[in-house]
Amino acid sequence: MSTNEQLATIYDQVRTRSAGEPEFHQAAAEVFESLHLVVERRPEYAEAGLIERLCEPERQIIFRVPWVDDAGTVHVNRGFRVQYNSALGPYKGGLRFHPTVNLGIVKFLGFEQIFKNALTGLPIGGGKGGSDFDPKGRSDAEVMRFCQSFMTELHRHIGEYIDVPAGDIGVGAREIGYLFGQYKRLTNSYESGVLTGKGIAWGGSQVRREATGYGVAYFVAEMLDSLGTSLDGKTVVVSGSGNVALYAIEKVHQLGGTVTACSDSSGYVVDPGGLDLAVLKAVKEDRRGRIDEYATEVATASFVAGGSIWDVPCDVAVPSATQNELDADAAAVLARNGVRVVAEGANMPTTPAAIQTFRDAGVAFAPGKAANAGGVATSALEMQQNASRDSWSFEYTDRRLAAIMRGIHRRTVTTAEEYGMPGDYVHGANIAGFIEVADAMSAMGVI
Ligand code: NDP
Repeated sequence: MSTNEQLATIYDQVRTRSAGEPEFHQAAAEVFESLHLVVERRPEYAEAGLIERLCEPERQIIFRVPWVDDAGTVHVNRGFRVQYNSALGPYKGGLRFHPTVNLGIVKFLGFEQIFKNALTGLPIGGGKGGSDFDPKGRSDAEVMRFCQSFMTELHRHIGEYIDVPAGDIGVGAREIGYLFGQYKRLTNSYESGVLTGKGIAWGGSQVRREATGYGVAYFVAEMLDSLGTSLDGKTVVVSGSGNVALYAIEKVHQLGGTVTACSDSSGYVVDPGGLDLAVLKAVKEDRRGRIDEYATEVATASFVAGGSIWDVPCDVAVPSATQNELDADAAAVLARNGVRVVAEGANMPTTPAAIQTFRDAGVAFAPGKAANAGGVATSALEMQQNASRDSWSFEYTDRRLAAIMRGIHRRTVTTAEEYGMPGDYVHGANIAGFIEVADAMSAMGVI
């Protein structure tokens, strides 16, 4: 059987075993596309059943989350934690609270997380979790009761040497606070290292809030540097206006670029001279408002309800909202408008057809598992500080983050070259991440 046939057979088995999980199939297919390059050189990976083992989560936990709203009505949501791979360290990955969350979504995110975490070079395995709970429009008290109920089950399965969750869509500092409070109460121990993204005063790390967005901006700067240019004077479009988007915008501005548009699920705003981050943060962080409020407060801005933010011409695009938000049509528009670099702030925001469109158009494209790894890397730095009961300054932590992002960029680029795919960040990231995990798994025997 040829390598391609062998991989196609394994991929078919993965699909069949995980029927009805299209996002997971998509994430697996993207990695399988790169694997033939590795397995042709290193057939021992396929012979040891490593690929099948890597595709199957070590453990999947699904649980009931009952809670009571402010009116006294009982609600039931579903909670998930997929502990995907612990070859390199404790499972590590965020929790997502969004009505679209299901097992397939959590598996796709957990699968990507394995390779992303490996790329950071830090000792963390891959996992992910969440719930179909929708925090939008809920009071603080309702979110607290939900988080307490969620942690009442989850606490049995996590720990600083076992599994260390963090935030993701719908889970920020407020939710991490409620989750940590309930964990502490249930276990009667102040185990700082059990969650990351904590408040600075109670075990959190400087720069964790900013890390994913800052990291993407550092990665973009490296990509532009490889093309012989910089962020200086470049126009940038960032989709979303959540944690990743806001801090990507902040760092792009600090590095000399101008972000002219951002969005939420209601539409997008364009501010041609550059977004005013203070207003944006007041709308999104302080008031948890909608993006059109920015346009009512800033005279130079306009709001477009619905529509595609990718219609806004730019040199650099940073999709930072959610999966599959940038399709082939949008990619074609971006390419036609002269985009040079696309870096994923979100996880899998670009469809496979859109990635191919960028390849065909010669646009440099970086997948989330490389470009947005700054968040989890800084979470690992938070774990280091917790383990040594230390706390580092903002400047020092930011320098560590920048160095980690430079390292991921270098590793991705050199691996792509080594495997005959120069300039292809997708293959570079997949192969470098895979080899790191596969070698660790091989060393540990058939487990
Ligand atoms: P937030 O909840 O802070 O923000 C999400 C943003 O994306 C909001 O503006 C939201 O708009 C928008 N959005 C979410 N779902 C949809 C949708 N279905 N359609 C349109 N817009 C949508 O999440 P984060 O910023 O933390 O996460 C964004 C992405 O980055 C996710 O893919 C996440 O997995 C990824 N990521 C996050 C990391 C982190 O450290 N937080 C680390 C690495 C990756 P609205 O409010 O209207 O829903």
